[in-house]
Formats: sequence, structure tokens, C-alpha cells
Amino acid sequence: MEKIILNIIFIIVLFSNSIFADNYFVKSEIKNGELKLYFSSNIEGVKYFTIPTDDGATKFVYDIYGATLPKGKGISHHTYKTVESFRIAQNNSERVRVVIKSSQKSLNRHAYRDNLLVIPLRDNQDASISGRTIANIGKKDKKIVVIDAGHGGKDNGACCKGIVEKNIVFNIAKKVKIKLENMGYRVYMTRNSDRFIKLPKRTEFANRKMADVFVSIHANAAPTLRRAKLFRGIEIYYLSPAKSERAKRAAEKENSVMLEHKDYYTKNAYLSLLNREKIVESHKLGLDVRRYIVKNLRKRYKIHDSGVKTANFWVLVGAQMPSILVEVGYITNPIEGKNLLTDKYQSLLAKGIAKGIDRYIKNNY
Ligand SMILES: [Zn+2]
Repeated sequence: MEKIILNIIFIIVLFSNSIFADNYFVKSEIKNGELKLYFSSNIEGVKYFTIPTDDGATKFVYDIYGATLPKGKGISHHTYKTVESFRIAQNNSERVRVVIKSSQKSLNRHAYRDNLLVIPLRDNQDASISGRTIANIGKKDKKIVVIDAGHGGKDNGACCKGIVEKNIVFNIAKKVKIKLENMGYRVYMTRNSDRFIKLPKRTEFANRKMADVFVSIHANAAPTLRRAKLFRGIEIYYLSPAKSERAKRAAEKENSVMLEHKDYYTKNAYLSLLNREKIVESHKLGLDVRRYIVKNLRKRYKIHDSGVKTANFWVLVGAQMPSILVEVGYITNPIEGKNLLTDKYQSLLAKGIAKGIDRYIKNNY
């Protein structure tokens, strides 16, 4: 059923897209009771109106003309005491729409100048804009990447003959971070030590950091040791309804740590899935990362490339930016398992992941 809905929405969105202007939504923040929205160039105009809702709340709507919402960008991560939800969407080809649902009956006057729109959330205070605006964001701002080393703390991930997934992926993640920083990116890791983090916290972190890209790093294991030799290769996943048996199995394994949070995901999963842009962009990111991993590792090793696939990895649910999960190989495979422990192999893998991310960002931002 979800798949049918997904396809219909896919088609609708596909045909409703047309030529966009060049004024991109860049970032948002809440400061001193004001929601501030920054764009890449001057705002043409803002139309404001309200809609009462059935449950007694009010929707405050701001149409920003000539503006474009880049893939993966959002404002739904914001929270404010009187506000139930923050939404931003491409309303049509010529305007971006911001909807704030609040228990308040009215909001004070908004204001915009240059590339900045300020919406007051606090009572009794009109919006004010002072000082410089465009200079605050600067186009040279570093792109932000969040790297998620899978598992941690009480959750070891896959284990085989003393090889523990959480340690291997942490080492690789650290190497990716350093390589990306050397390329000029701002990089955050969801964990900087061996500690347990719940899956939703990982994407929440990436949303909070306004990441442009989220990459989760994992290692795989064969279902039984008897079949260890049969399972090998690098697999890259992006979020979409799972298709192959192997993809489903990998997703079940990585998801198992969060079974008690199943309700949270069933409620939120498909909301986040219904975003064509993010699915397409995550796929592109996956293809770039795969290409460079294969290219780097093949210089020295015989490796098996299992391509880019779709699966329901809950760790990717809720990410507001293009996001993928990389299974760097099978620790249960006699050859791959041994390679994954070496510094050389880990470095080449990390180099491939970093270069793939770099390629994706350079081509798409
Ligand atoms: Zn894992």
C-alpha cells in the first residue's frame, strides 16, 4: 500500500517541478524568540496569511516569492514553546511556503530585508532586522558532513572471532573525518568514543548540525558462520522500501537494537520516505561513494562490489539531508574480515568514502 502511495506522489512531484529561480533557502535559526530564515540572495516578496485549524490552533503561512528549497533542507527540527510544528516546502515553482502551527491567535509583524526573513514567535514583539544580513551567511560557508560510526557502548554490532563491528567502523569513521576536514569540510561524528547512542538521536544530531550529508558506517556479517565464505562485498544502502532478501536481512540486523522503538518509526518512517528529492539525492550520493570506494580499494585488493541498494534502515529515517548507510564488508569472510582489521585497508576505504562525498557535494551544491 505504501508503495502505491509513494509512486503516486513520486509522479505528482515529478510533473509539478518546473524551472526554479536562483534564490535558495540556506539556513534557519531561532534566536531571542524569532525564527530567522536566510536565503542565498535578496527576497523578492513575502505574502502572509493565517488559516484557523479544526483543533483551535492557527496556521501562520508565509509565502516567499522567487525562492527555492534545496533538497534535504528543512525547518521541522525547530522547537519553540507555543509552536506545535514548523514546516517549509516548495509550494510551487515560484515560491517557498513556511507554515507555523501555533496555539497563539496572532503573531506580531514579520520583517524581511536583503536575504533575511524574521518571523516573531514571542508575544508583543515585532520582528526587527539590524546589522548585516547577507554577510552573516557568506557563500563560502563550509559544507557540513555528519559521519555516524555504527553501534557503540553496550551495542557491539556484528562480532566474529574477536572482530567487533563497533570498533572497526569507528576507526574508519575517524579516518573519513580527517580526510574530509583536509578537503575543507566541517565534519561532526555522532559518537567520538565507544558509547551507546539510540538510532533516532543520530539523525536528530545531523539535523541539528544542519548537515548537508549524513553517512552511517557499518560492517556486515554472514547469517551463519558455515556460510561465511559466501558472503562478501561492499554494500551501500539508501532509505526506500526494502527490495532484495539480502537488503531486508541487513536492515533487520542493523535495526534490531531499536525494536522497542518500533512505534516511533512506523509513525514517522513513511512521512520521511515521501520525499522524492531525498530519495533521488541519497541514491546519487550512494553511487558516488560506491564509485570511489571501489576505485581506491581496487588499487591494491580484489574486492567484491555489491552496488547501491534500497532498504529500510531506521538509522536513516528522519534525516533531513541526503543520507546513506555503507556496509564496508563482511567481518565473517576469511579474506575481508582480515583486511578490515588492517590500517591500509581502512585508510583506502575511508579515502573512497570521503572522495565520494566530496564528488557528490561538488556536483550537487
Ligand atoms: Zn551495523
